[in-house]
Amino acid sequence: MKQFIYDRPTQVRDALTLMSQNDRAQYLAGGTNLVDLMKSELEGPSRLVDVRHLPLQGIHETHDGGLFIGATTTNSDVAAHAEVRSRYPALSQAILAGASGQLRNMATVGGNLLQRTRCNYFADRSEPCNKRAPGSGCAAVTGEHHNHAILEWSDHCMATNPSDMAVPLAAFDAVVHYETLGGTHDIALSEFYPPVGDTPQRETLLPPGALITGVTLPTSAESPRSRYRKVRERASYAFANVSVAAALDVREGSVDSVRIAFGGVASRPWRALTAEAVLQDQPATASMFRAAVDAELSAARPLEHNRYKVALARNLAETVLTGLVEQTV
Ligand code: SF4
Repeated sequence: MKQFIYDRPTQVRDALTLMSQNDRAQYLAGGTNLVDLMKSELEGPSRLVDVRHLPLQGIHETHDGGLFIGATTTNSDVAAHAEVRSRYPALSQAILAGASGQLRNMATVGGNLLQRTRCNYFADRSEPCNKRAPGSGCAAVTGEHHNHAILEWSDHCMATNPSDMAVPLAAFDAVVHYETLGGTHDIALSEFYPPVGDTPQRETLLPPGALITGVTLPTSAESPRSRYRKVRERASYAFANVSVAAALDVREGSVDSVRIAFGGVASRPWRALTAEAVLQDQPATASMFRAAVDAELSAARPLEHNRYKVALARNLAETVLTGLVEQTV
């Protein structure tokens, strides 16, 4: 591992100032992804600004009834929080599906949003990778890509976003808050991750040096009848092949409101707005759910090894939505 300066500020302003003094500085929170990347020299910050002593921890209700989650709140604390479990259960379920207890105890909300892809070629210096070395090419497009994106990918990169937590956050219209030396800012999670296009190395729209301070779940998205389900390749913790977060309200047999987001299918959590529009006011039946997801996935461009994800996403969404209907009656 390369040498670096280590700072432990206690005020957000001080953290932002330290970051602004060094081009290759990075924030450190739980370190569950960054430290691994540093050990393998995929990341080489010259300064680490530890944010764990900043006043960014905790969960509280906002003035209009939403739920604010501080950026350094651990994944364990979010998953176990009574308000999260009762009002946004899919978020708790996603976090519990995401990693071992040890990792959840260290990993933070802000760090979870910023974790890097687990594409094998990204970690393999002998292979081209536009995300690791812009302009070098993408080994996955012509190589092994069974767990890569089927939606919105480009010839420059077809990696998926590895976060489980971000999938229900997308479904719940979460807002990400961040600070720069210029002030405080908000960005919808749906806009936080840009489409991959020809710049896969640009993974979020955060300005350089910006510090995530928290995430808000709006009260309008409160969904006690919501669920997260994930398909992975082994029973112990692994990243999703496909996952789905869904919330559903049914009135007299028809869909009154629905939220659906997929993980494991794109470079960002995929909000299924087309499927939601198809379902609105329609019969809450398995065949309708399948038709709606088929409409969503009509834009999918699977390759040879990841073709299975289309059927998997459809079947998984149908199972989750059908289960939510049964929960309603
Ligand atoms: Fe790199 Fe993305 Fe291609 Fe993987 S899919 S090799 S991360 S450019």
